[in-house]
Amino acid sequence: MAFEGLANRLQNVFGKLRSKGKLSEEDVGEALREVRLALLEADVNFKVVKDFIAKVREQAVGQEVMKSFTPGMVVIDIVNKELTALMGGTQSKLARSNRPPTVIMMAGLQGAGKTTSSGKLAKMLQKQNHRPLMVACDIYRPAAIKQLQVLGEQLKVPVFAMGDQVNPVDIAKAGLQHAKDNGNDYVIIDTAGRLHIDEALMDELKNVREAVQPDEILLVVDAMTGQDAVNVAESFHKQLELTGVVLTKLDGDTRGGAALSVKAVTGCPIKFAASGEKMDALEPFFPDRMASRILG
Ligand code: GDP
Repeated sequence: MAFEGLANRLQNVFGKLRSKGKLSEEDVGEALREVRLALLEADVNFKVVKDFIAKVREQAVGQEVMKSFTPGMVVIDIVNKELTALMGGTQSKLARSNRPPTVIMMAGLQGAGKTTSSGKLAKMLQKQNHRPLMVACDIYRPAAIKQLQVLGEQLKVPVFAMGDQVNPVDIAKAGLQHAKDNGNDYVIIDTAGRLHIDEALMDELKNVREAVQPDEILLVVDAMTGQDAVNVAESFHKQLELTGVVLTKLDGDTRGGAALSVKAVTGCPIKFAASGEKMDALEPFFPDRMASRILG
């Protein structure tokens, strides 16, 4: 399970804190050395770790430990607040256009879970009584269109496709028009991914963005890839001005670094977290809940 190692380590650290009265520099320093190691082992970006530790130290040193609390509890409380802040503080909700349909463009590298997440998001919206339409713009990956159509059938969500011989920009435009004509209030555009970031991919995504002016550009990244996921997010954000991140595969053996670093490094909030292959394995991302989960 994600974060188990980090949670266990932090528990050990805080259990060792002993001082009463005010927290001393020495006590805090020792604990924070361990926290630092735990975060680095969890594959959190080193600069993010450095800033994080500095913030916690500033608040913890000199902090009074009230009678009914242990020093560990006081530090945990500060770490909890700072972890929450690190991941964006409050939940970052999905945009909703005043003039429907709301257009959501899904981007990401091949295999990150873009198509699956498109289906999951459609299901979530459908449950909230919306009428999503999925648009198949991934014309390169063999079977991507079929995959989206199968998901659509399974979920009873319409899929707009034009095969793999039409330009994705034209498909996106036609898909948006189709949604307007058919009263769909959300359009989820499944774009193409590549194995690596390249100029052709970015140009295509920029052209699709230009053509349909999305309300959301969500980047789907695989949490299992750790710092790579963060680097990918940074590159995509520079080129596309993302509005949010979907972090997938949190059910795997991820160490948590991506979840903790993405917002701090890119400025882009995680909006959804996926933890499984099934269609209901997508949840809105709550920084405070994730922080509590990390701290066990
Ligand atoms: P795409 O190339 O980005 O469209 O990736 P897909 O949506 O086809 O997903 C690639 C693989 O990852 C598929 O086998 C999915 O079932 C799997 N996958 C996607 N999201 C998750 C997740 O949250 N957890 C797990 N365990 N697998 C996932």
